Amino acid sequence: MDKLPNYRTDFRSIRDEISPDEWRARVELAACYRLVDAYGMTDLTYNHITARVPGPGHHILINLYGLLYKEITASSLAKIDLDGNVIWKPDTDYYVNKAGYVIHGCIHRARPDVRAVIHTHTPAGMAVAAMQCGLLPISQTSIRFEGHLGYHDYEGPAVDLGEQARLVRDLGMHNAMILRSHGLLTCGPSIPEAFNTMYQLELACRTQVDAMAARTELVVPSKETLEKTAHLYQPGTRRPYGVLEWPAMLRLLEAEQKNSAFPPYWN
Ligand SMILES: [Zn+2]
Repeated sequence: MDKLPNYRTDFRSIRDEISPDEWRARVELAACYRLVDAYGMTDLTYNHITARVPGPGHHILINLYGLLYKEITASSLAKIDLDGNVIWKPDTDYYVNKAGYVIHGCIHRARPDVRAVIHTHTPAGMAVAAMQCGLLPISQTSIRFEGHLGYHDYEGPAVDLGEQARLVRDLGMHNAMILRSHGLLTCGPSIPEAFNTMYQLELACRTQVDAMAARTELVVPSKETLEKTAHLYQPGTRRPYGVLEWPAMLRLLEAEQKNSAFPPYWN
């Protein structure tokens, strides 16, 4: 008789077996998965959020394919190289979705300034990704992306390595991109900043869907106002968005954990 697959989710802590820097990155990334879930941006067990392991090795942390974002813990994350080969993963039959890593791997390779990449399939994100007009500068939240947003045309499920060069080209030096007919992508120099950018992009898309559904003329500020506003929200202009917010995000998770049967993300 075939052995039943090991799909248990009570992963043992590896805190004492790795460097403090890697542990910190794992805890932060696990928190980011929980926040993407808390803000309604998950798609069952699909998609990935990836983060670079601090240090000289070009290694990336990624979720095991098949876990809910609510179940992801620091010790459950797999470590892979830039080609998606597994360096370490927990003792489990859950595996790393190499095809899903196609989108993330090329960005980590091409953009050494990027430490985290988030990709989502939300209804609002997919709705704007289906619109020829793209993201409209109709709210302060969306104006911050004016001139700072890439667009990538759909080529089918991202399993073709040839698409990687076009993903990198279309992202350019932006930290946000709309994958047409597909979803959203953000990245950043840290996990908190990449999360904040995704939160803002998602909110901008939800707002646009609501505004367009109202079927009335929309207001767009002048070109000068758009440029000034987008500039003021760039990370180097006033402050890096996401850093100040992060401890509050962790307090939110900690409070919610008290009523949760799922393992804490910091395990
Ligand atoms: Zn996708």
